Amino acid sequence: MQNNNTKRIPIIAGNWKMNIFPEDATTLSTGIIHDTQQLEVIVLPPYVYLHQVHNLLKNKSVKLGAQNVSMYSSGSYTGEISAPMLKSVNCSHAIIGHSERRQLFHEQDDAIAKEFTALVKEGIVPIVCIGETQQQRKSGNAKSIIKQQLDQILEITSSAEQLIDFIIAYEPVWAIGTGESASSELAQEMHEYIRSLCSKVSSDLADQTRIIYGGSINPENAHDLLSQQDIDGGLLGKASVSLDKFNSIIKVANTIWRQ
Ligand code: PEP
Repeated sequence: MQNNNTKRIPIIAGNWKMNIFPEDATTLSTGIIHDTQQLEVIVLPPYVYLHQVHNLLKNKSVKLGAQNVSMYSSGSYTGEISAPMLKSVNCSHAIIGHSERRQLFHEQDDAIAKEFTALVKEGIVPIVCIGETQQQRKSGNAKSIIKQQLDQILEITSSAEQLIDFIIAYEPVWAIGTGESASSELAQEMHEYIRSLCSKVSSDLADQTRIIYGGSINPENAHDLLSQQDIDGGLLGKASVSLDKFNSIIKVANTIWRQ
């Protein structure tokens, strides 16, 4: 499907996970080199550093996101962080359904759909992570798993009055943190499939929804992956907590999308 970059602004997002301390947050936030509106750069620190990172990013066009959100907006939910709270600390984005949340904390599609609704209500852009395990791929179920993970989200978008701005991150579980990314051909095939699912809701949704790839992106494989037609950017884990690597990948992205 044609990647019309005049419509879809590409994204480089860094998920810092639970891998940093305040001094790292400072080094990363102050060192990111990003100077164009043609690319959206987003960092996703741990909750406790959101305020600090927001203050450090004030003079940059780097956006701020959270790594998760509660499905509830307020109340007696010890340990949870709500979408209105994320808004109060200037988050414009939040990841939901990361495979680590799905696998280690047993988050299910219906809970993720509620988190999606909670974010949209606050005007925060959800980054919905989907992806199959190695076993699901081996048994030929990769596409049906992706469809199942997206079904409730697409249902919400199809009944919304206006087009919902959200981002889909295709992250094959077997590629996350393993150093073994998907090949660019496989990633493109899956992204094209995901876009075809969006097109069943509407052609506008398919045209405008950014579908980004995640799973062992590094400065060496970034060009190959990010230059695929249906890949609108990358979600980075490991490479996002190395300033050199993160800046190199932003540079690669700029060489692709600045043309
Ligand atoms: C991730 O966890 O979202 C991710 C893409 O990690 P990594 O880049 O380390 O594979």
